[in-house]
Amino acid sequence: MNIHEYQAKALLAKFAIPLLKGGVAYTKDEAMDVARKLGGAVTVVKAQIHAGGRGKGHFKNDPTGKGGVRLSKSVDDVGAQAAAMLGQDLVTKQTGPTGRTVQRLYIEDGCDIKRELYLSMLVGRAAGRISVVASTEGGMDIETVAHETPEKIVTQAIDPAAGYQPYQGRKIAFALGLSGKQVGAFTTLLGNLYRAYVDLDASLIEINPLVVTGAGDIVALDAKMNFDDNALYRHKDLEELRDVDEEDPAETEAAKYALNYVKLDGQIGCMVNGAGLAMATMDIIKLYGSEPANFLDVGGGATKERVTAAFKIILKDPNVEGILVNIFGGIMRCDVIAEGVVAAAREVNLHVPLVVRLEGTNVDLGKKILKESGLKITSAENLADAAEKIVKAVKENN
Ligand code: ADP
Ligand code: MG
Repeated sequence: MNIHEYQAKALLAKFAIPLLKGGVAYTKDEAMDVARKLGGAVTVVKAQIHAGGRGKGHFKNDPTGKGGVRLSKSVDDVGAQAAAMLGQDLVTKQTGPTGRTVQRLYIEDGCDIKRELYLSMLVGRAAGRISVVASTEGGMDIETVAHETPEKIVTQAIDPAAGYQPYQGRKIAFALGLSGKQVGAFTTLLGNLYRAYVDLDASLIEINPLVVTGAGDIVALDAKMNFDDNALYRHKDLEELRDVDEEDPAETEAAKYALNYVKLDGQIGCMVNGAGLAMATMDIIKLYGSEPANFLDVGGGATKERVTAAFKIILKDPNVEGILVNIFGGIMRCDVIAEGVVAAAREVNLHVPLVVRLEGTNVDLGKKILKESGLKITSAENLADAAEKIVKAVKENN
C-alpha cells in the first residue's frame, strides 16, 4: 500500500525524523489558511499524488507551465497556485500519459537548500536484509543514477539480529560528504528511520531529497512510504491512510476477491494460478512476440466465482485482445476448473479469443468439458503451445 507524502511525513515525525512544518489542504482556502499559519517568506505548494517526479512534471491543461511543486512568496500566490493545481491532472515520469488528478495539496515551509541527497530503506533482495541505499545525487530518480553513475550509490545491509549500528550510519554519512554535527544528526536519523521501517512494517521508505540546509541542518524534504500488505492487519491505523482514488480500480476490485492482479500495458490477458506460473506465462507470451495485459494470480482455489471475477476484471481493460488461461490443477481438479472457466465465459459473454491450458489432476475430463461447452475455447497442450496459439489468434483478429 502507498500513502501520500504528507501522510508519510506525519508518520515519520513520530519517529523524530527532521521535517519542515506544513499542512494538508483540499481547497484553495485551506491552502491559504495553512500558508498564513506557517507565515514564512517562502511557502511551497506540493501536489499530493501517489507518484514521484512531481516537481519535473506538468499539468495536462498547461503542458509548458510549472510542475507539481511550486514556490510562493505570498499567501495570495499560494491561493493562486493551489487553484491552478487542484482538480487538474498532473503528468510525471511515473504516472503515464493520463496523469493523476490532484485532490490534495501539502503546503510546506520553503527550504534553503544547500545540497540534495538521496536516502532510502528497503528490503535488499540480494542481502535478504533491510538495506540502506544512499547517494549524493539527491533529487534525481535513483534508477537513472544507478544506470549512469552506479559508483555514486552506497548501500548498507542491516543485520536483523544486531539491528542498526551507529557505525553504519557514520560510514554512510562520510560517503555522502557530511561533516561535523551533520554526521551525528544523520546517524541518529538513520536509526530512527530503521525503527520506523520495522515498527510500521514498511516495505520502502524513500527520502528524495534529504537536504542539507544553508544553516547546515539535515531535513527530509520529500517522503515516500510503501507498506507490506501482508502486515497491514497489524496496523489498522495505516489502513485508514489508504486513498482509493489513487489506486487502480481494477486492482481494488481484484483485492476484494483476493486475486493478485497488476495491470500492464500489453494485449493478452492472463489468468494463472500461482505467482511463479504467472511470471512464466508472461515471459512466454513475450517470447512468442506479444505482451501481457496483466499479471493475475487467481490463487489456489480457482472457483467459479473467482474465475468469473477474474474474467470480468481482465475484460474491463480495453487493451485486451485475447485471454490465456494457464492453470495447474494440483489440489484443484482440472474438471472443476474447466467448469468454472466455461461458466464464467458464458456469464461474461466472451468476445475475444480464449486459449486454455490445463494440466494436472483429471486433465482429460477438463479438456472434454471445454470441448463440449460449444464455446469458442481453444485447448492447448502445453505452455509453449498455449502462448503460440493465443498470440496467433490475436494477430489473426487484427
Ligand atoms: P518529487 O520527487 O515528486 O518531484 P519533491 O518533494 O522531491 O517531489 O520535490 C521536488 C523538488 O522540489 C525537490 O528536489 C526540491 O528541490 C524542491 N522542494 C521540495 N520541497 C521543497 C521545500 N519545502 N522547499 C524548497 N524546495 C522544495
Ligand atoms: Mg522527491
